[in-house]
Amino acid sequence: MTSNNDMQHVTRTTMLPYGQQWLDDDDITAVIKVLKGDFITQGPAILDFENKVATYVGAKYSVAFTNGTAALHAACFAAGIGQGDEVITTPITFLASSNCVLYQDATPIFVDIDPNTYNIDPAKIEEHINSDTKAIIAVDFTGQPVEIDRISQIAKQHNLVLIQDAAHSLGADYADRKIGAWADMTMFSFHPVKHVTTGEGGVIVTDNEHYYRKLIQFRSHGMTKDPDELLKDEGPWYYEMQSLGYNYRMTDMQAALGASQMNKLDSFVHRRREIVEKYNEAFADLPGLILPYQHPNAHSSWHLYVTRWLPEYFDATRKDIFEDLRDLNIGVHVHYIPVYLQPYYQELGYAKGLCPIAEQYYSTAITLPMFPKMTDQDIDDVINAVKSVYSHRIKKEI
Ligand SMILES: *Cc1c(COP(=O)(O)O)cnc(C)c1O
Repeated sequence: MTSNNDMQHVTRTTMLPYGQQWLDDDDITAVIKVLKGDFITQGPAILDFENKVATYVGAKYSVAFTNGTAALHAACFAAGIGQGDEVITTPITFLASSNCVLYQDATPIFVDIDPNTYNIDPAKIEEHINSDTKAIIAVDFTGQPVEIDRISQIAKQHNLVLIQDAAHSLGADYADRKIGAWADMTMFSFHPVKHVTTGEGGVIVTDNEHYYRKLIQFRSHGMTKDPDELLKDEGPWYYEMQSLGYNYRMTDMQAALGASQMNKLDSFVHRRREIVEKYNEAFADLPGLILPYQHPNAHSSWHLYVTRWLPEYFDATRKDIFEDLRDLNIGVHVHYIPVYLQPYYQELGYAKGLCPIAEQYYSTAITLPMFPKMTDQDIDDVINAVKSVYSHRIKKEI
């Protein structure tokens, strides 16, 4: 068969997205129940959802926010990050992981990634620590946990606050302990492409009561009515604003949806792992195509399946290959452009070449569609499309 015939072999009539939510009748019933009840915000569904997340990951406290970005902002506030502080993070992440540092007038410091896991390289963290360093924001890219044991050790040694951006890794574990039970504060996102959704939503979990109280205040204007926190008491109406907070509150409709979705988290993760096994098997013997490496201590919950196409093997650029796949209605994506290469960060003075491994990674990466609601036919469509583009574009040996 010629490569042209290969290309025509794969025909999808609709674009397969790279990620998508999975809602069922239970979810819809849970939201309607809230809509028919007394509270649509600041009601009991919030605490119920928060407790569900805390219990699942094995953390003491849990605070829900309007979205994961607001949750990260709150974590930076609670950690006491402010002007003059430096915060270490990775460039291969979504913008929010470092924007939250800028919100607090502090400086993100980008440390290069490990070439295998694509997560921050623990061996490179210490050389960036100085007397201004306040915290580390470690990101579990694709759902594979960072080497959180090593990073915790470094944070302890240097008295840094460790925040884990676990937007990708709800349901993952490291050394048999759930993500959410490791860092000082851990953030989960509930955007529709993430493991479970509330539409928009975020949660911080922590074991630390001081952080917990700060997070609660920050979510609601820096305001408190808690008798343990009030500086004085003028009467039953009395409330006090003790810091500059925001309105970052989640609604009860969202929380009810989140609580209902949490019931399905394990089955969602199971399905993602099944898809990964199918991809891994199908693409095992394709030289030049790099599949996701897994650290032996990490047990990913698989938010993303990232492939890398090494340029020396192909008669085509990454862009060509990406466009071939899109032409076949496979909704591939690229995660991520190194954050500091964004024009806004360039204007702040971050130079190209800062993290060479991250830049090299970025130039070859293509994310394949993966979400639990994918049918077996969808999976086969992806596999056939990748194989067909691969055989069309691979350098032919003569
Ligand atoms: C999704 C995501 C966020 C932000 O979460 P939102 O809920 O969309 O605000 C932060 N970090 C990473 C790595 C993400 O993927």
